Amino acid sequence: MTQTPLTEQDIERRSAAIGRKCGECSLCCLLLDVREAGKKDGEWCPHCKPGKGGCMIYDHRPHRCRGYACAWLVNETIPEHWYPLKSHMILDFAKGDPATLRVHVHPDHPNRWQEQPFLSDIGKLVQWAVRCRFKMLIDGNDVTLEGKNLDAA
Ligand code: SF4
Ligand code: SF4
Repeated sequence: MTQTPLTEQDIERRSAAIGRKCGECSLCCLLLDVREAGKKDGEWCPHCKPGKGGCMIYDHRPHRCRGYACAWLVNETIPEHWYPLKSHMILDFAKGDPATLRVHVHPDHPNRWQEQPFLSDIGKLVQWAVRCRFKMLIDGNDVTLEGKNLDAA
């Protein structure tokens, strides 16, 4: 799994190479902090029409949006069932902190990460994170130290 910051071109190239695209998903426009776009925490970005075209200012979207890709979009080792529109979760690396792997959970589905097959996947990711001295956060809570519990799932 990569943790290197990607350019817009990298994102396009990688996602095309593995045959993945955002499609109707706009979950990052809800769950991530994009103050540059006038977005408030926990609310949809005012420029987003989820499921109806997505970003309405796509050609002029902030730099932060251009350089963002969730791990599912650009990494084929992330299983297909992590597609954020269906999983209701986003897996990504923290901006400016590539040693932190995060799971953002849709507030309408707060226990989703504890369901299978996600919990088993997270257990494996925690093992990997511990081995690589990464931190892993689920909605901001560090689960790396609880890896043994998750691993037992
Ligand atoms: S969460 Fe991932 S798949 Fe969904 S819109 Fe954002 S980058 Fe695309
Ligand atoms: S500006 Fe566009 S891409 Fe960025 S958060 Fe808003 S809707 Fe999403």
